[in-house]
Amino acid sequence: MARIAYVNGKYINHAQASVHIEDRGYQFSDGVYEYVAFYNRKLLDGELHFKRLERSLKELQIAEPVNFAALRVIVRELIERNGREDGGLYIQVTRGVAKRDHVFPKNVRPALVMTICGAKTPKPNEFEHGVKVITQPEIRWARRDIKSVSLLANILAKQEASRAHVRESLLVESDGTINEGSASNVFIVTKSGKLVTHQADENILGGITRDVLLRLAHKAGIAVEERAFSVNEAKAAAEAFITSTSINVLPVVKIDDKLVGGGKVGEITKQLQELYNAYIYKQTGKKF
Ligand code: PLP
Repeated sequence: MARIAYVNGKYINHAQASVHIEDRGYQFSDGVYEYVAFYNRKLLDGELHFKRLERSLKELQIAEPVNFAALRVIVRELIERNGREDGGLYIQVTRGVAKRDHVFPKNVRPALVMTICGAKTPKPNEFEHGVKVITQPEIRWARRDIKSVSLLANILAKQEASRAHVRESLLVESDGTINEGSASNVFIVTKSGKLVTHQADENILGGITRDVLLRLAHKAGIAVEERAFSVNEAKAAAEAFITSTSINVLPVVKIDDKLVGGGKVGEITKQLQELYNAYIYKQTGKKF
């Protein structure tokens, strides 16, 4: 199957696609990105991802590389050219190519790169029986609400998870509270049946999956609290799970050495998985 990338106005064979060495994304991580899933060639929550991209660009004062109407057309064309039914779309925008200087360059066009990859969905076994995670100290910058390409601290945390043969690292602030995962948002269900997740502020990336799930939970009459919670509270919770565009709603059954909910996937987690799967089906026709 042909793998085609979009690079600054051109559709190029993925293997030949490249960017300039003076691209500020490469030099300074001066850029932002989005990851959007598609099923049956339909974007899942495409408009919500575009809106977050627009916000990230604005926060970093990077101009829009093309207007969003044009972006939608390019995305559709790229998905068609790649010929995949299900997969993921990366949209990456950097401030552009300029002589190396910390100060923003003048009159530089932002660079736009888009690539398509295979779907990154967890295995059915992981959805059904849950995954293990570890905790890691939070060492990222203070604007995690911006979906910046600067993911060094995230990849270090994920690497620790990989080394420990677990799925994810939950990031812990110096006060002992968990904010989110290295590439996911974190939810717990208290023993009294309340769904708790960190409030959407500058300490976390406001996940699209998180937002959608909170809406579905509200509709289903599940009590929700958006607040920080400690590692100890998470370990003592009745249920826990993580969310993202690539993992959907993934149950967590062990945090460090502590089983959560006796090591079994909880009922509210299962209910939310079903609600989210129905949501995906309604939008794209894809069954999980
Ligand atoms: N938090 C971080 C740090 C992430 O990298 C991601 C996704 O990549 C998420 C949360 C989940 O966001 P979304 O649901 O929009 O994929």
